Amino acid sequence: MTVRLRRPCLNCGTPTRNASRCDRCQAVWQQQRDQVRGSAHQRGYDGAWQRTAAAAVAAHRAAHGDWCPGWQVPAHPASDLTGDHIVAKANGGTDSSDNVQVLCRGCNARKRDQ
Ligand SMILES: [Zn+2]
Ligand SMILES: [Zn+2]
Repeated sequence: MTVRLRRPCLNCGTPTRNASRCDRCQAVWQQQRDQVRGSAHQRGYDGAWQRTAAAAVAAHRAAHGDWCPGWQVPAHPASDLTGDHIVAKANGGTDSSDNVQVLCRGCNARKRDQ
């Protein structure tokens, strides 16, 4: 007989056999995550772009530290820097390293909403 350990769900504390969250919280969490990020495929991001963006963030951080250049706001300290397309792929932008702009998540989201 196999003993399955139950662990408390990370969100609600209900004992669950899942790795981290109970079925209900897992479903909610995945839904929220998908809404926030969209799938990588939907956004046209692949491994090469992820690496290009990560390299741009690393270079920016090495040169400027945790500092967001700002999008329609003054530059400000930010530790959650991300790389984004300057010209969106939907508008013909490429995944090359000269089409990467480093912004914090907040500025990135604002820019994307434009
Ligand atoms: Zn739960
Ligand atoms: Zn910012």
